[in-house]
Amino acid sequence: MTEPKHLFIPGPTNIPDRVRRAMNLAMEDIRAPDFPELTKPLFHDLKTLFKSETGEIFLFPSSGTGAWEAALTNTLSPGDRVIVASFGQFSMLWAKMCRDLGFETEEWEIPWGEAFPLERLEERLAQPDAAGIKAVLVCQNETATGVASDVAGVRRILDAADHPALLMVDGISSIACIEFRMDEWGVDLAIAGSQKGLMLPTGLSVVCASRKALAASETAKCRRSYFDFAWHAGANKDGYFPYTPATQLLRGLRVSLDILAEEGIENVWTRHNRLAEGVRRAVRAWGLETCAARPEIASDTVTAVVVPEGIDSADVVRTAYHRYNTSFGVGLSKVAGRVFRIGHLGALDEVKILSGIAAAEIAMRDCGINLQAGSGVGAAIDYYRETAPAALAAAAE
Ligand SMILES: *Cc1c(COP(=O)(O)O)cnc(C)c1O
Repeated sequence: MTEPKHLFIPGPTNIPDRVRRAMNLAMEDIRAPDFPELTKPLFHDLKTLFKSETGEIFLFPSSGTGAWEAALTNTLSPGDRVIVASFGQFSMLWAKMCRDLGFETEEWEIPWGEAFPLERLEERLAQPDAAGIKAVLVCQNETATGVASDVAGVRRILDAADHPALLMVDGISSIACIEFRMDEWGVDLAIAGSQKGLMLPTGLSVVCASRKALAASETAKCRRSYFDFAWHAGANKDGYFPYTPATQLLRGLRVSLDILAEEGIENVWTRHNRLAEGVRRAVRAWGLETCAARPEIASDTVTAVVVPEGIDSADVVRTAYHRYNTSFGVGLSKVAGRVFRIGHLGALDEVKILSGIAAAEIAMRDCGINLQAGSGVGAAIDYYRETAPAALAAAAE
Protein backbone atom coordinates (compact mmCIF):
# COMPACT_ATOMS: atom_id res chain seq x y z
CA MET A 1 0.00 0.00 0.00
CA THR A 2 1.35 3.40 -0.92
CA GLU A 3 0.83 6.00 1.70
CA PRO A 4 -0.17 8.72 1.09
CA LYS A 5 -2.26 8.38 -2.06
CA HIS A 6 -1.00 9.91 -5.27
CA LEU A 7 -2.98 13.08 -5.58
CA PHE A 8 -4.07 14.31 -9.01
CA ILE A 9 -7.13 16.24 -7.93
CA PRO A 10 -7.37 19.96 -8.59
CA GLY A 11 -7.11 20.80 -4.91
CA PRO A 12 -6.15 20.12 -2.25
CA THR A 13 -2.81 19.74 -4.00
CA ASN A 14 0.46 18.17 -2.93
CA ILE A 15 2.28 20.02 -0.17
CA PRO A 16 6.05 20.34 -0.62
CA ASP A 17 8.04 18.88 2.27
CA ARG A 18 9.56 22.24 3.06
CA VAL A 19 6.10 23.72 3.52
CA ARG A 20 4.88 20.82 5.63
CA ARG A 21 7.87 20.98 7.94
CA ALA A 22 7.45 24.72 8.36
CA MET A 23 3.97 24.10 9.76
CA ASN A 24 5.06 21.51 12.30
CA LEU A 25 5.75 23.84 15.17
CA ALA A 26 4.51 24.83 18.58
CA MET A 27 1.68 27.33 18.90
CA GLU A 28 2.84 30.88 19.11
CA ASP A 29 1.68 34.15 20.61
CA ILE A 30 -0.55 35.90 18.09
CA ARG A 31 -0.08 39.25 19.82
CA ALA A 32 3.68 38.92 20.31
CA PRO A 33 5.62 42.11 19.63
CA ASP A 34 7.56 40.37 16.82
CA PHE A 35 4.50 38.69 15.21
CA PRO A 36 4.33 41.45 12.56
CA GLU A 37 7.77 40.36 11.38
CA LEU A 38 6.00 37.29 10.03
CA THR A 39 2.79 38.90 8.84
CA LYS A 40 3.81 42.17 7.23
CA PRO A 41 6.07 40.53 4.63
CA LEU A 42 3.26 38.05 3.90
CA PHE A 43 0.92 40.89 2.93
CA HIS A 44 3.67 42.43 0.83
CA ASP A 45 4.66 39.22 -0.94
CA LEU A 46 1.06 38.23 -1.64
CA LYS A 47 0.60 41.55 -3.43
CA THR A 48 3.64 40.73 -5.52
CA LEU A 49 2.16 37.33 -6.31
CA PHE A 50 -1.10 38.99 -7.47
CA LYS A 51 1.00 41.49 -9.47
CA SER A 52 -0.45 44.42 -7.62
CA GLU A 53 1.22 47.54 -6.30
CA THR A 54 -1.88 49.45 -5.33
CA GLY A 55 -4.17 46.71 -4.02
CA GLU A 56 -4.72 45.65 -0.44
CA ILE A 57 -4.50 42.07 0.79
CA PHE A 58 -7.00 40.49 3.17
CA LEU A 59 -6.29 37.08 4.66
CA PHE A 60 -9.18 35.09 6.08
CA PRO A 61 -9.21 31.84 8.02
CA SER A 62 -11.68 30.23 5.61
CA SER A 63 -11.77 28.13 2.49
CA GLY A 64 -11.97 29.96 -0.84
CA THR A 65 -15.76 30.15 -0.66
CA GLY A 66 -15.45 32.53 2.29
CA ALA A 67 -13.39 34.89 0.15
CA TRP A 68 -16.20 34.91 -2.46
CA GLU A 69 -18.50 36.15 0.29
CA ALA A 70 -15.95 38.67 1.55
CA ALA A 71 -15.52 40.17 -1.93
CA LEU A 72 -19.28 40.45 -2.50
CA THR A 73 -20.48 41.67 0.89
CA ASN A 74 -17.76 44.24 1.37
CA THR A 75 -18.34 46.02 -1.91
CA LEU A 76 -22.03 45.66 -2.85
CA SER A 77 -25.45 46.52 -1.46
CA PRO A 78 -28.55 44.32 -1.36
CA GLY A 79 -30.39 44.46 -4.67
CA ASP A 80 -27.31 45.43 -6.68
CA ARG A 81 -27.25 43.94 -10.16
CA VAL A 82 -24.39 41.54 -10.83
CA ILE A 83 -23.46 39.51 -13.90
CA VAL A 84 -22.13 35.99 -13.45
CA ALA A 85 -21.35 33.72 -16.36
CA SER A 86 -21.98 30.20 -15.20
CA PHE A 87 -20.18 27.42 -17.09
CA GLY A 88 -19.21 24.91 -14.43
CA GLN A 89 -19.76 23.91 -10.83
CA PHE A 90 -17.75 26.75 -9.33
CA SER A 91 -19.05 29.65 -11.39
CA MET A 92 -22.53 28.21 -10.84
CA LEU A 93 -22.06 28.15 -7.06
CA TRP A 94 -20.76 31.71 -7.07
CA ALA A 95 -23.96 32.74 -8.85
CA LYS A 96 -25.99 30.88 -6.23
CA MET A 97 -24.15 32.78 -3.50
CA CYS A 98 -25.08 36.05 -5.21
CA ARG A 99 -28.75 35.09 -5.08
CA ASP A 100 -28.45 33.90 -1.48
CA LEU A 101 -26.97 37.26 -0.51
CA GLY A 102 -29.82 39.16 -2.14
CA PHE A 103 -28.26 40.56 -5.30
CA GLU A 104 -30.17 41.00 -8.54
CA THR A 105 -28.26 38.20 -10.21
CA GLU A 106 -27.99 37.85 -13.98
CA GLU A 107 -26.72 34.31 -14.28
CA TRP A 108 -25.69 33.58 -17.84
CA GLU A 109 -25.90 29.87 -18.40
CA ILE A 110 -23.16 28.97 -20.82
CA PRO A 111 -22.54 25.42 -22.08
CA TRP A 112 -20.08 23.64 -19.79
CA GLY A 113 -16.77 23.50 -21.63
CA GLU A 114 -17.07 27.09 -22.87
CA ALA A 115 -15.45 30.19 -21.37
CA PHE A 116 -16.67 33.63 -20.29
CA PRO A 117 -18.58 35.06 -23.31
CA LEU A 118 -16.89 38.35 -24.15
CA GLU A 119 -19.21 39.23 -27.04
CA ARG A 120 -22.25 38.76 -24.85
CA LEU A 121 -20.81 41.18 -22.30
CA GLU A 122 -20.17 43.68 -25.04
CA GLU A 123 -23.80 43.41 -26.19
CA ARG A 124 -25.13 43.56 -22.65
CA LEU A 125 -23.21 46.73 -21.84
CA ALA A 126 -24.70 48.39 -24.91
CA GLN A 127 -28.26 47.96 -23.58
CA PRO A 128 -30.02 50.98 -22.06
CA ASP A 129 -30.20 49.54 -18.51
CA ALA A 130 -26.52 48.57 -18.40
CA ALA A 131 -25.70 51.45 -16.08
CA GLY A 132 -27.31 49.48 -13.24
CA ILE A 133 -24.73 46.68 -13.40
CA LYS A 134 -22.54 46.94 -10.32
CA ALA A 135 -20.22 43.98 -10.76
CA VAL A 136 -19.06 41.47 -13.32
CA LEU A 137 -17.92 38.15 -11.88
CA VAL A 138 -15.43 35.99 -13.76
CA CYS A 139 -14.20 32.56 -12.77
CA GLN A 140 -10.74 32.70 -14.34
CA ASN A 141 -10.24 28.96 -14.19
CA GLU A 142 -13.37 26.81 -14.04
CA THR A 143 -12.08 23.81 -12.13
CA ALA A 144 -15.05 21.60 -13.01
CA THR A 145 -14.50 21.74 -16.77
CA GLY A 146 -10.84 22.73 -17.12
CA VAL A 147 -11.57 26.00 -18.89
CA ALA A 148 -9.67 29.27 -18.56
CA SER A 149 -11.31 32.62 -19.35
CA ASP A 150 -9.84 35.85 -20.66
CA VAL A 151 -9.85 38.27 -17.73
CA ALA A 152 -7.91 40.96 -19.59
CA GLY A 153 -10.55 40.71 -22.33
CA VAL A 154 -13.32 41.42 -19.82
CA ARG A 155 -11.44 44.51 -18.65
CA ARG A 156 -11.03 45.71 -22.26
CA ILE A 157 -14.77 45.44 -22.83
CA LEU A 158 -15.64 47.25 -19.60
CA ASP A 159 -13.19 50.02 -20.50
CA ALA A 160 -14.41 50.28 -24.08
CA ALA A 161 -17.91 50.84 -22.71
CA ASP A 162 -16.50 53.16 -20.05
CA HIS A 163 -18.44 51.07 -17.55
CA PRO A 164 -17.70 51.43 -13.82
CA ALA A 165 -18.73 47.90 -12.72
CA LEU A 166 -16.37 46.16 -10.32
CA LEU A 167 -14.48 43.30 -11.91
CA MET A 168 -14.35 40.35 -9.50
CA VAL A 169 -12.21 37.37 -10.36
CA ASP A 170 -12.28 33.92 -8.79
CA GLY A 171 -8.63 32.95 -9.12
CA ILE A 172 -8.80 30.09 -6.64
CA SER A 173 -7.46 27.47 -9.05
CA SER A 174 -5.42 29.86 -11.19
CA ILE A 175 -3.51 32.38 -9.07
CA ALA A 176 0.05 31.15 -8.43
CA CYS A 177 -0.35 28.75 -11.40
CA ILE A 178 -1.36 30.64 -14.54
CA GLU A 179 -0.85 34.21 -15.63
CA PHE A 180 -2.59 36.71 -13.39
CA ARG A 181 -2.05 40.49 -13.39
CA MET A 182 -4.23 42.33 -10.91
CA ASP A 183 -3.22 45.92 -11.71
CA GLU A 184 -2.58 45.58 -15.42
CA TRP A 185 -5.93 43.84 -15.96
CA GLY A 186 -7.79 46.29 -13.74
CA VAL A 187 -9.13 43.55 -11.48
CA ASP A 188 -11.00 45.00 -8.51
CA LEU A 189 -11.32 41.92 -6.35
CA ALA A 190 -9.12 38.89 -6.86
CA ILE A 191 -9.65 35.74 -4.84
CA ALA A 192 -7.30 32.87 -4.02
CA GLY A 193 -7.41 29.87 -1.70
CA SER A 194 -4.59 28.12 0.12
CA GLN A 195 -5.05 24.50 -1.00
CA LYS A 196 -4.54 24.98 -4.74
CA GLY A 197 -1.64 26.90 -6.28
CA LEU A 198 -0.33 27.94 -2.88
CA MET A 199 0.35 24.27 -2.00
CA LEU A 200 -0.99 24.57 1.55
CA PRO A 201 -3.71 22.86 3.54
CA THR A 202 -7.24 24.24 3.17
CA GLY A 203 -8.18 27.03 5.54
CA LEU A 204 -6.69 30.27 4.32
CA SER A 205 -8.28 32.49 1.70
CA VAL A 206 -6.96 35.67 0.16
CA VAL A 207 -8.71 38.67 -1.33
CA CYS A 208 -6.75 41.39 -3.07
CA ALA A 209 -8.87 44.53 -3.32
CA SER A 210 -8.17 47.46 -5.64
CA ARG A 211 -8.44 51.10 -4.54
CA LYS A 212 -11.78 51.24 -6.34
CA ALA A 213 -13.02 48.20 -4.42
CA LEU A 214 -11.88 49.73 -1.13
CA ALA A 215 -13.72 52.94 -1.97
CA ALA A 216 -16.84 50.89 -2.77
CA SER A 217 -16.52 49.15 0.60
CA GLU A 218 -17.01 52.47 2.35
CA THR A 219 -20.54 52.86 1.05
CA ALA A 220 -21.58 49.23 0.43
CA LYS A 221 -24.62 48.36 2.52
CA CYS A 222 -24.43 44.57 2.73
CA ARG A 223 -24.32 43.31 6.27
CA ARG A 224 -20.97 41.82 7.09
CA SER A 225 -19.01 41.06 10.20
CA TYR A 226 -16.53 38.18 10.18
CA PHE A 227 -15.23 39.22 6.75
CA ASP A 228 -15.46 42.99 7.21
CA PHE A 229 -12.60 44.67 5.35
CA ALA A 230 -12.45 47.69 7.66
CA TRP A 231 -12.19 45.54 10.78
CA HIS A 232 -9.33 43.58 9.22
CA ALA A 233 -7.55 46.61 7.80
CA GLY A 234 -7.52 48.24 11.22
CA ALA A 235 -5.63 45.30 12.76
CA ASN A 236 -3.62 44.35 9.65
CA LYS A 237 -1.93 47.74 9.37
CA ASP A 238 0.06 46.86 12.50
CA GLY A 239 0.61 43.26 11.43
CA TYR A 240 -2.16 41.70 13.52
CA PHE A 241 -5.60 40.23 12.92
CA PRO A 242 -8.98 41.05 14.48
CA TYR A 243 -9.35 37.44 15.64
CA THR A 244 -7.12 34.39 16.02
CA PRO A 245 -5.15 33.78 12.82
CA ALA A 246 -4.23 30.25 11.74
CA THR A 247 -0.57 30.61 12.64
CA GLN A 248 0.60 27.28 11.20
CA LEU A 249 -0.94 28.18 7.86
CA LEU A 250 0.79 31.56 7.94
CA ARG A 251 4.13 29.83 8.61
CA GLY A 252 3.43 27.48 5.72
CA LEU A 253 2.42 30.40 3.51
CA ARG A 254 5.77 32.05 4.25
CA VAL A 255 7.58 29.05 2.79
CA SER A 256 5.23 28.51 -0.15
CA LEU A 257 5.69 32.16 -1.16
CA ASP A 258 9.46 31.69 -0.86
CA ILE A 259 9.33 28.60 -3.08
CA LEU A 260 7.26 30.44 -5.71
CA ALA A 261 9.61 33.44 -5.62
CA GLU A 262 12.69 31.22 -5.93
CA GLU A 263 11.30 29.67 -9.09
CA GLY A 264 10.01 33.04 -10.32
CA ILE A 265 6.28 33.45 -10.92
CA GLU A 266 6.64 33.66 -14.72
CA ASN A 267 8.55 30.35 -14.61
CA VAL A 268 5.80 28.88 -12.46
CA TRP A 269 3.28 29.85 -15.16
CA THR A 270 5.49 28.34 -17.87
CA ARG A 271 5.91 25.11 -15.92
CA HIS A 272 2.15 24.76 -15.49
CA ASN A 273 1.62 25.38 -19.19
CA ARG A 274 4.23 22.83 -20.18
CA LEU A 275 3.00 20.10 -17.81
CA ALA A 276 -0.57 20.77 -18.91
CA GLU A 277 0.31 20.51 -22.58
CA GLY A 278 1.81 17.08 -21.92
CA VAL A 279 -1.49 15.98 -20.38
CA ARG A 280 -3.43 17.34 -23.37
CA ARG A 281 -1.13 15.45 -25.76
CA ALA A 282 -1.81 12.32 -23.75
CA VAL A 283 -5.57 12.82 -24.02
CA ARG A 284 -5.26 13.22 -27.79
CA ALA A 285 -3.07 10.10 -28.04
CA TRP A 286 -5.75 8.17 -26.16
CA GLY A 287 -8.22 9.24 -28.84
CA LEU A 288 -10.30 11.11 -26.25
CA GLU A 289 -11.49 14.70 -25.94
CA THR A 290 -11.26 17.29 -23.23
CA CYS A 291 -14.33 18.97 -21.78
CA ALA A 292 -12.76 22.32 -22.77
CA ALA A 293 -14.38 23.03 -26.13
CA ARG A 294 -11.34 24.59 -27.80
CA PRO A 295 -7.56 24.37 -27.26
CA GLU A 296 -7.29 28.16 -26.68
CA ILE A 297 -9.44 27.94 -23.56
CA ALA A 298 -7.91 24.78 -22.09
CA SER A 299 -6.83 25.26 -18.50
CA ASP A 300 -3.22 24.79 -17.47
CA THR A 301 -4.19 23.59 -14.00
CA VAL A 302 -6.79 20.89 -14.61
CA THR A 303 -7.88 18.77 -17.55
CA ALA A 304 -11.36 17.27 -17.64
CA VAL A 305 -11.23 14.16 -19.81
CA VAL A 306 -14.46 13.05 -21.52
CA VAL A 307 -14.85 9.27 -21.40
CA PRO A 308 -16.37 7.32 -24.33
CA GLU A 309 -20.13 6.64 -24.53
CA GLY A 310 -21.19 3.75 -22.33
CA ILE A 311 -18.41 4.30 -19.78
CA ASP A 312 -19.03 5.84 -16.36
CA SER A 313 -16.18 8.21 -15.52
CA ALA A 314 -16.83 7.64 -11.81
CA ASP A 315 -15.75 4.03 -12.41
CA VAL A 316 -12.39 5.23 -13.67
CA VAL A 317 -11.96 7.40 -10.58
CA ARG A 318 -12.98 4.56 -8.25
CA THR A 319 -10.67 2.07 -9.97
CA ALA A 320 -7.70 4.42 -9.79
CA TYR A 321 -8.45 4.98 -6.11
CA HIS A 322 -8.88 1.39 -5.02
CA ARG A 323 -6.41 -0.42 -7.26
CA TYR A 324 -3.71 2.17 -7.81
CA ASN A 325 -3.82 4.46 -4.77
CA THR A 326 -4.43 7.41 -7.02
CA SER A 327 -7.00 10.16 -6.75
CA PHE A 328 -8.48 11.92 -9.75
CA GLY A 329 -11.30 14.44 -9.66
CA VAL A 330 -14.80 13.15 -10.36
CA GLY A 331 -17.15 14.82 -12.81
CA LEU A 332 -19.32 17.30 -10.93
CA SER A 333 -23.02 17.99 -11.38
CA LYS A 334 -23.85 18.39 -15.10
CA VAL A 335 -20.78 16.42 -16.21
CA ALA A 336 -20.99 13.68 -13.53
CA GLY A 337 -20.21 10.30 -15.08
CA ARG A 338 -19.01 11.93 -18.30
CA VAL A 339 -15.64 13.37 -17.29
CA PHE A 340 -12.89 12.70 -14.82
CA ARG A 341 -10.38 15.39 -13.97
CA ILE A 342 -6.63 15.29 -13.83
CA GLY A 343 -5.36 18.06 -11.57
CA HIS A 344 -1.94 19.35 -12.61
CA LEU A 345 -1.34 22.32 -10.39
CA GLY A 346 1.00 23.13 -7.57
CA ALA A 347 4.07 21.15 -6.64
CA LEU A 348 4.49 18.97 -9.73
CA ASP A 349 7.20 18.09 -12.21
CA GLU A 350 7.42 15.89 -15.32
CA VAL A 351 7.95 12.63 -13.47
CA LYS A 352 5.05 13.17 -11.11
CA ILE A 353 2.64 14.14 -13.86
CA LEU A 354 3.79 11.20 -16.03
CA SER A 355 2.90 8.87 -13.18
CA GLY A 356 -0.55 10.47 -13.10
CA ILE A 357 -0.99 9.97 -16.83
CA ALA A 358 0.10 6.34 -16.41
CA ALA A 359 -2.39 5.83 -13.57
CA ALA A 360 -5.17 7.27 -15.74
CA GLU A 361 -4.21 4.89 -18.55
CA ILE A 362 -4.17 1.78 -16.45
CA ALA A 363 -7.45 2.63 -14.73
CA MET A 364 -9.17 3.48 -18.02
CA ARG A 365 -8.01 0.18 -19.52
CA ASP A 366 -9.37 -1.65 -16.49
CA CYS A 367 -12.71 0.06 -17.06
CA GLY A 368 -12.93 -1.15 -20.65
CA ILE A 369 -11.74 1.95 -22.47
CA ASN A 370 -9.94 0.78 -25.53
CA LEU A 371 -6.66 2.64 -25.67
CA GLN A 372 -3.10 1.69 -26.41
CA ALA A 373 -1.11 1.15 -23.20
CA GLY A 374 1.64 3.75 -23.00
CA SER A 375 0.19 5.93 -25.74
CA GLY A 376 -0.56 8.90 -23.50
CA VAL A 377 2.60 8.52 -21.46
CA GLY A 378 4.60 8.30 -24.69
CA ALA A 379 3.05 11.43 -26.17
CA ALA A 380 3.73 13.37 -22.99
CA ILE A 381 7.31 12.08 -22.78
CA ASP A 382 7.98 13.20 -26.35
CA TYR A 383 6.57 16.63 -25.63
CA TYR A 384 8.53 17.04 -22.38
CA ARG A 385 11.75 15.98 -24.13
CA GLU A 386 11.22 18.41 -27.00
CA THR A 387 10.52 21.27 -24.63
CA ALA A 388 12.94 20.42 -21.82
CA PRO A 389 14.89 23.53 -20.84
CA ALA A 390 18.15 21.61 -21.58
CA ALA A 391 16.90 20.53 -25.03
CA LEU A 392 15.89 24.09 -25.85
CA ALA A 393 19.30 25.40 -24.78
CA ALA A 394 21.08 22.78 -26.93
CA ALA A 395 18.89 23.62 -29.94
CA ALA A 396 19.75 27.29 -29.57
CA GLU A 397 23.49 26.63 -29.82
C1 LIG B 1 -11.82 25.07 -5.24
C2 LIG B 1 -12.52 26.19 -5.88
C3 LIG B 1 -13.48 26.95 -5.20
C4 LIG B 1 -13.94 26.61 -3.82
O1 LIG B 1 -12.96 26.83 -2.90
P1 LIG B 1 -13.07 26.18 -1.44
O2 LIG B 1 -11.71 26.41 -0.89
O3 LIG B 1 -13.41 24.74 -1.63
O4 LIG B 1 -14.11 26.92 -0.71
C5 LIG B 1 -14.03 28.03 -5.86
N1 LIG B 1 -13.69 28.35 -7.10
C6 LIG B 1 -12.78 27.63 -7.79
C7 LIG B 1 -12.44 28.04 -9.18
C8 LIG B 1 -12.18 26.53 -7.20
O5 LIG B 1 -11.28 25.81 -7.90
